Amino acid sequence: MLKDIATPQRTKEILNKYGFSFKKSLGQNFLIDTNILRNIVNAANITESTGVIEVGPGIGALTEQLAKQAKKVVSYEIDQRLLPVLKDTLSPYDNVTIIHSDVLKANIQEMIEEHFQDVDDIMVVANLPYYVTTPILMKLLEEHLPIRGIVVMIQAEVADRIAAKPGTKDYGALSIAAQYFAQAEKVMTVPATVFVPQPRVDSAVLRLTIREEPAVQVESEDYFFTVFHACFANRRKTILNNLVHNLGPKEKKSEIEAALEEAEIDPKRRGETLSLAEFAKLSDALLKRLA
Ligand code: SAM
Repeated sequence: MLKDIATPQRTKEILNKYGFSFKKSLGQNFLIDTNILRNIVNAANITESTGVIEVGPGIGALTEQLAKQAKKVVSYEIDQRLLPVLKDTLSPYDNVTIIHSDVLKANIQEMIEEHFQDVDDIMVVANLPYYVTTPILMKLLEEHLPIRGIVVMIQAEVADRIAAKPGTKDYGALSIAAQYFAQAEKVMTVPATVFVPQPRVDSAVLRLTIREEPAVQVESEDYFFTVFHACFANRRKTILNNLVHNLGPKEKKSEIEAALEEAEIDPKRRGETLSLAEFAKLSDALLKRLA
């Protein structure tokens, strides 16, 4: 019986066998600790009828643990050099499909229709490449995919921002975007020593549980996103100043002031103090004045 891929010794053997050199530009930091992998898999509550989408299998450390628990795993890998490696390391598992693609360009909805007709639920589980953490998470959330949740290893600082509450220094546009679609929790922080090579930042496991309905109801989701992004364009500015300078040319100062009044929001407040409900009210009040 082969040892798990995610041990320092087996990882070294695999890397040597294929003469693999890490590409920093692809965020390649592989996990070499089976305990951490078990914690990630446990956090995702995977059963034998779960379909799992993975981003970036690397040499298959996490993929292997997912394949043992789930019905199926479909994994997107951008680095062609890893394809023969994965074919070899994952050969004991017949429930894994590797797709050679940049996940940001992939049609995930179509893949789900093709591969996940016979599963009860779908989870995304990944040790993400840190250079594209935010675009990948936003793609997964904004495409309204039929997934139950997302469990990912990411930079601790980004996990803190995503899970932040209003009024804290970490709360910003990313917190609102993620919390609009999902409930966010930081599951654990992870030391750099469980990776090879070790990343220069601290890491954390984040769990996003997708809401059945978004956290707030808005007339236009696109406009809601435009409004809260504008409110955080300059964190030191008041909401009024940010909106005046960062919304489109159609929104006039007097109308912005009237919308703030209707939403019962003091124009001197800063974006970081507003709840999702307040941003929703403000977005609808502004939109009404544009029509
Ligand atoms: N899952 C492995 C592990 O935990 O050991 C590797 C994780 S490593 C942090 C990130 C992986 O994502 C690498 O294999 C890298 O080649 C891949 N990757 C980077 N950018 C990607 C993208 N845009 N689409 C798909 N995979 C990507």
